[in-house]
Amino acid sequence: MGSGGQADNADSENKQNTLMSLSVYSPERFMLEAYKQAQLAFEKGEIPIGAVVVANNRIIARAHNQVELLNDATAHAEMLAITAAAEYLGNKYLKDCTMYVTLEPCVMCAGALHWAQIGTIYYGASDLKRGFTMISNNLLHPKTKVNTGIMAEECQALLEGFFTKLRNE
Ligand SMILES: [Zn+2]
Repeated sequence: MGSGGQADNADSENKQNTLMSLSVYSPERFMLEAYKQAQLAFEKGEIPIGAVVVANNRIIARAHNQVELLNDATAHAEMLAITAAAEYLGNKYLKDCTMYVTLEPCVMCAGALHWAQIGTIYYGASDLKRGFTMISNNLLHPKTKVNTGIMAEECQALLEGFFTKLRNE
């Protein structure tokens, strides 16, 4: 907020540059790709949340929140990424896939990830209001592994920046 905003941005840019040099196949690298999707959402006036789905160390789906564009309250990044990944694989189950998403999935998306039987989830920032863990970790498929915290600060800062901008417009 205010004059602090620019310093924060410069700081997160430095962190991004550090992450750029990491291994192509590291979780940090894939989370950065999800973060880039969130940035795209930001630029388009969507709440900045991004997701990618990875199979065999390859990104098979990228998506960002498109609630405004599609005029669809269910068009969360995860939902769009699940559909795109399933289409790519020709398989409704994503058992061998990993989803990287910048924010903890909501209850709806956790439910969808359950039905897709996603293998692993990495999420960046926690969502203390709408995150599925507020309700129950059991919303996910029992075999789904969950990891948290990669780029959490950056993902959170992007969201905060978005809502600050919204309030000032
Ligand atoms: Zn959601």
